[in-house]
Amino acid sequence: MKKFAIFGNPVEHSKSPDMHNSAFKAVGFDGEYFKILLENGDKLKEEFFANGLSGANITVPHKEAAYRASDYLDEFAKSVRAVNTLVFKEGKLYGYNTDAPGFLKSIEKFKDIKTILLLGAGGTAQATAPILKKAGYSVAILNRSAPRLEKFKEQGFQTYTFETLIDEKFDLIVNMTSAGLKDKNLPAPKDLLEKTLPNAKAAVDIIYGKETPFLKLAKEHYLPTADGSEMLIQQGVLAFDYFTDHRFDLKIVEEAMRKGLIRD
Ligand code: NDP
Repeated sequence: MKKFAIFGNPVEHSKSPDMHNSAFKAVGFDGEYFKILLENGDKLKEEFFANGLSGANITVPHKEAAYRASDYLDEFAKSVRAVNTLVFKEGKLYGYNTDAPGFLKSIEKFKDIKTILLLGAGGTAQATAPILKKAGYSVAILNRSAPRLEKFKEQGFQTYTFETLIDEKFDLIVNMTSAGLKDKNLPAPKDLLEKTLPNAKAAVDIIYGKETPFLKLAKEHYLPTADGSEMLIQQGVLAFDYFTDHRFDLKIVEEAMRKGLIRD
């Protein structure tokens, strides 16, 4: 039996074991997937081998540690300097990032989206903005503080702080901050969101498993919405594909992961 795990701190809330174990069962792969609470990111590699793992996912706050632990990085993980998927093969640790492609897939259901405003300039926004741009979307970033916007500006993205966003229009507004995860905060001042949301066609929050204040406000403006569970599933499907060396039908994997997520 091959062993897999998710490393994080905290990790108790993670739904990844439910999704991956459900998919292993569906495709008849002899594997098990569990959670490992990791306090010190520098111990990631040591723990990976001590647990006899064949692969792992890595969540907050260890994605940069996983980047450092990788012997080989795929081009995309290298460019975003963050790894959420590790695979052990031929004696080496291979690092991938499936978060951003997972997000891209998760917004396919919204039609007629050309312009996207990302709220937040953290690790996930940094990985996602370039992939959205490459897919043909026009992407802008709004963050509460200016320093984190510098990297985006250097890459040619339109950036805003709360003071500089006036009356621009966007088709899709995405909460990529952690506002609403453990608190009741909105990702931006309410009056600013109330000016922006009415012009949008849809809103997404990448936090999953709850209705955040941002999603609630978007629904009050009658917008189609989605939480982060679709992104969670899509990044999981892509990670599973790496874990199992592209051997299985991803439609079956996706369906099983969806069931695993709901069942819990
Ligand atoms: P980071 O810690 O790298 O970045 C956090 C960002 O949120 C920063 O831009 C920060 O702004 C902003 N922020 C935090 N609190 C507030 C607030 N109260 N008001 C306004 N802005 C705020 O986080 P990540 O990019 O790693 O993760 C962001 C969120 O995405 C998390 O909630 C995480 O759980 C979720 N996530 C979901 C996934 C899924 O599969 N569904 C996958 C990956 C992440 P500042 O620069 O001013 O500090």
